[in-house]
Amino acid sequence: MRRKIIAGNWKMNTILAEATDLAKAISSGVNPEKSTVIFFPPFPFLQNVREVIANASNFSIGAQNLSSKEGGAYTGEVSAKMLTSIDMEYVLVGHSERREYFNEGDNILFEKLNQSFENGLKPIFCCGEPLGERSSGNHVQYVGDQIRNVLFLLTPQQLNSTIIAYEPIWAIGTGQTASPEQAQEMHLLIRDVLKEKFEPEMVESISILYGGSVNAGNALSIFGQKDVDGGLVGGASLKVNDFLDIIKAMESIG
Ligand code: PEP
Repeated sequence: MRRKIIAGNWKMNTILAEATDLAKAISSGVNPEKSTVIFFPPFPFLQNVREVIANASNFSIGAQNLSSKEGGAYTGEVSAKMLTSIDMEYVLVGHSERREYFNEGDNILFEKLNQSFENGLKPIFCCGEPLGERSSGNHVQYVGDQIRNVLFLLTPQQLNSTIIAYEPIWAIGTGQTASPEQAQEMHLLIRDVLKEKFEPEMVESISILYGGSVNAGNALSIFGQKDVDGGLVGGASLKVNDFLDIIKAMESIG
């Protein structure tokens, strides 16, 4: 059975009081039993949000980014070791905004994954095609290569502690979500690509989340797809009622 996960990526939003209020309202508004809910607040509020959810079962927390370096003279960077020292459990790696605006390519992402594993963090590795690749019909090749170029370099044990998020870039923050069929097709593709290299049985146990304009209205139909194991949610994760409805949609699925 794959673990169902609903992750909220707050990006560069909220100030301290808003972050703790948001975490409080959501963690007291639902009791997830079948899924794990993960908050990804901005770095300065990680400790505060962690305290808010300390007694909420099936709520967890992670960082939106980490350094590819172990430590030292890298002004402004945050290492994996720092994150585990404040009990972070998860970290996002390869989000399209990091790939695009901060030029993070395959090599850096592989180093970030290594830092995560060495320090006991579970990465959510994001992949997904831009609009041009989708329009030209090259999305299968494009996403397949994102998986092959980085995840094929992992050991089976490392892959086993990785979560994947398929996030078509044309759907992120645009309100134009992938159809349930498009999501299912790509999740199945990702699983098939992983099976080229890793044990099929292990690949079947890996959670693959969908991200890209998930909201209260479309969550159920997307999460109902066979190979969709939850969602990575941006905009709607900042709205208490919307995010609660998204969690409830996941919980309502057998
Ligand atoms: C994201 O940034 O990971 C994301 C999926 O954003 P949104 O839900 O706003 O499209």
